[in-house]
Amino acid sequence: MQTHFIYETLPARVIFGEGKLDSLAEELERAGLSKALILSTPHQADWAHEIAQSLGTLSAGVFSQAAMHTPVAVTEDAINFLNKVGTDCVVELGGGSTIGLGKAIALRTGLPQIAVPTTYAGSEMTSILGQTENGVKTTLKKSIVQPGTVIYDVNLTLTLPPALSATSGLNAMAHAVEALYAQDRNPIISLVAEEGIRAFAESLPAVIAAPNDKSARTKAQYGGWLCGICLGSAGMALHHKLCHVLGGSFDLPHSETHAIMLPHTAAYNEPATAEAMDAIRRALGNANAGLGLWELAKSINAPMALKDLGFKETDIEKATEIALKNPYWNPRPLEADGLRSLLRRAWAGDAPQA
Ligand code: NAD
Repeated sequence: MQTHFIYETLPARVIFGEGKLDSLAEELERAGLSKALILSTPHQADWAHEIAQSLGTLSAGVFSQAAMHTPVAVTEDAINFLNKVGTDCVVELGGGSTIGLGKAIALRTGLPQIAVPTTYAGSEMTSILGQTENGVKTTLKKSIVQPGTVIYDVNLTLTLPPALSATSGLNAMAHAVEALYAQDRNPIISLVAEEGIRAFAESLPAVIAAPNDKSARTKAQYGGWLCGICLGSAGMALHHKLCHVLGGSFDLPHSETHAIMLPHTAAYNEPATAEAMDAIRRALGNANAGLGLWELAKSINAPMALKDLGFKETDIEKATEIALKNPYWNPRPLEADGLRSLLRRAWAGDAPQA
């Protein structure tokens, strides 16, 4: 049992349930807002326009250029646009990319945000913002970027393709796994983390088998919320650091990289985190933590090998060096040999080893 901790709550209003997108107008009025700019990626623009239409005079229009890793140039275009149309808040319809754009706008303008997540990435529950400028990604943590209201409506996740559902779910589970052994963990977040992992372990196979299964999708979305709380509440360690290195220096795709790395980073930390691993085993209903995550990933057809994402075997050494250059806390000390063999197994798609 953990006997020393600090616990802070996240200041967000969360509306969860099928059909709850219909309460968007009510939520705007409740917050005293009357001109919402709807944000989306180009891929989800039609949806954003439908929502804008349904809001009538409460809508200030649509900006549908959200892009991966929140490029500063896109944020500046969005701010020019919103200054032209006049708006008093943003509504983010989409995954981490669209929510990132809303956060970047909030950072610069102070405008309130309503997030309507359509993936399981969890950005809506955090005060973290990653932005890119001239090819460099920087991350900040400020309460102003956390959306004040979040609407989770399962109907918006039904179109999430099975492949992205699998990697997005594993990406979310990684937030919970690392929260269980974080330096600043606390008993509440540990309960949330275990329940988040359980929700995904129980729902992802059904979601992949039948993407329209609303009951499985609801459980996955519930998991996404819980795992997002974990990311927003606890510091992250080896897993997120390595994924940051692989994404930032080798341009590997976000959720796929998380999905491949999670079983290996969990296994690396297994010898140093008995209580966390017990929780993961319970949540997975599997006698092993790292191996259990690997088996789950395999069963839902997630990508299993970094080599399939274009990462070269010869990059292992460079990735190890970059990861070790910038020291950070991890429950098991970082050793070059251990990291090299972890990355080699992840590169090849082999089963994880502690
Ligand atoms: P994403 O937002 O980039 O979406 C990927 C693609 O899927 C987009 O084309 C999008 O339009 C489409 N899509 C999303 N939902 C869909 C749906 N329901 N149906 C059909 N298509 C859909 O993907 P993501 O994994 O949610 O977000 C990744 C980004 O979020 C990364 O840049 C990552 O760094 C960031 N992120 C930030 C935080 C944070 O706390 N700041 C947390 C997690 C992720």
